[in-house]
Amino acid sequence: MGNQPMIVMSEDSQRTSGDDAQSMNITAGKAVAEAARTTLGPKGMDKMLVGSSGNVVVTNDGVTILQEMEIEHPAANMIVEVAQTQEEEVSDGTTSAVVVGGDLLGQAEDLLDQDVHATSIEQGYRQASEEAKAILEEQAIDVGADDTELLEQIAATAMTGKGAENAKGRLAELVVDAVTSVADDAGVDTDNIKIETVVGGAIEDSELVDGVVVDKDRVSDAMPYFVEDANVAVIDDALEVAETEIDTEVNVTDPDQLEEFLDREQEQLRAMVDDIVDAGADVVFAEDGIDDMAQQFLADAGILAVRRTKSSDAAQIARATGAQVVGNVGDIEADDLGFAGTVSQQSVGGSQQLVVEDVEDASSVTLLLRGGTEHVVDEVERAIGDSLGVVRITLEDGKALPGGGAPETNLALELRDFADSVGGREQLAVEAFADALESIPRTLAENGGLDPIDSLVDLRSQHDAGQSSAGLDAYSGDVIDMETEGVVEPLRVKTQAIDSATEAAVMLLRIDDVIAAGDLKGGQIDGDDGGDDGGPPAGAGGPGGMGGMGGMGGGMGGMM
Ligand code: ADP
Ligand code: MG
Repeated sequence: MGNQPMIVMSEDSQRTSGDDAQSMNITAGKAVAEAARTTLGPKGMDKMLVGSSGNVVVTNDGVTILQEMEIEHPAANMIVEVAQTQEEEVSDGTTSAVVVGGDLLGQAEDLLDQDVHATSIEQGYRQASEEAKAILEEQAIDVGADDTELLEQIAATAMTGKGAENAKGRLAELVVDAVTSVADDAGVDTDNIKIETVVGGAIEDSELVDGVVVDKDRVSDAMPYFVEDANVAVIDDALEVAETEIDTEVNVTDPDQLEEFLDREQEQLRAMVDDIVDAGADVVFAEDGIDDMAQQFLADAGILAVRRTKSSDAAQIARATGAQVVGNVGDIEADDLGFAGTVSQQSVGGSQQLVVEDVEDASSVTLLLRGGTEHVVDEVERAIGDSLGVVRITLEDGKALPGGGAPETNLALELRDFADSVGGREQLAVEAFADALESIPRTLAENGGLDPIDSLVDLRSQHDAGQSSAGLDAYSGDVIDMETEGVVEPLRVKTQAIDSATEAAVMLLRIDDVIAAGDLKGGQIDGDDGGDDGGPPAGAGGPGGMGGMGGMGGGMGGMM
């Protein structure tokens, strides 16, 4: 080989090793947490995110913010994944999980500076995480399925600080009502709760409809707009004469031939409608089109029909009424039909909608959400999503915890005690873990415009005195009993946040080498002009602003 350098990586690849890799990853992870933290809690602010195509989202929701930011940096993305996992598993607590994850990295950075090895930090963090979860389980309060008041408090806590804030009492009632009405022995399937949004009206006017609401008109005015004791057919097919794949030309030489041609088409349509009538259907939801002629035949038979039903709506109707979705009109049988007490066209929120009520399987409801503008409705929908999720989880586990930083303060105290029993360098990591958990009450205080140190001191002293549900009232700045105040969250939201934050932090800490095939900078979207459409207004870094590893300095700067 002589003195020839040996080339093992492509010229385009980038490599960062050792301390540099570690500190780069920590910086990236912390930056993500920093971007989300100002939204935490009842007094958290919202972010306006302008996407690369100019679409605007105004939100307070951690996971939405991080997803809309289109973060490209691989390490930063691991923190985004924390939020995504949290969202998938428990619907709420996304910002908290990310804030704790970021703080775990920050604490680790200090320990690394003191020459504590990453492996010791990992060990300590893992032990602390296990201990923390055990402590939380012990402290959790029981929630029964008929504890409506407590469930409503949990539903409302998940909506705090979101656009739905003012109407959260009313919405919490609806959410608990919705979840309990679809709950059965097998658990809660939130797929049975359909969310329809209506722009116009006040949020308080939102309502829960027993059954399925479909944003559709009947296809012809000649059809009934109200059907009682309806046999419902759901058809994933068109009531049209199939067009040939290839364009054909029919040469007609005399008018009779044309007549015959049209007659044949009419006969086919007639046969389809006859099949539906013979099966005994009173209402038809077709996922595809319905020919004018077929509409006429259906109307003549007194059938209410809807065309181009969204397939998600069709699935919901099928589930609710007990209908089988029929793929081919010709195959329809009486057995395929579902049942609804009434199917009617009503004016809902200013537009005509079809409401399928008194369904066979009563466990299907529609939450009709109203809001003044599109953006308001979207944010209410996200808040409701969180809220439905937490009520479902609470019903499944039957366990809840006070919020407002109470469990985190408590854990911090207990973990510091526990650290003494750990010993070695891991002890330092357990203590660091305790500090990281306190980032929740600290951030709640900061976002509430309070002095975080005063608040923490106050919280600690109350917890020391045995007030384990003392939390921070972000509105008054006082430390009060969160259980009495009705700020309650499911146990699993807290344990999941600890789990995923720990996993992500540990994973990033273990990395001492980042080898990127090709130029990572090339992978970023929007390149340098990323800041133009997303950076300054969002205060959250433009899309792709974090793109390349090399671009971290600038891209990250925009995030903090
Ligand atoms: P996340 O995405 O983590 O759910 P949120 O912005 O919803 O973020 O904030 C959740 C935090 O706010 C939790 O720690 C919760 O206990 C706290 N919180 C919610 N309502 C109140 C309240 N009324 N007073 C104090 N803290 C609250
Ligand atoms: Mg929340």
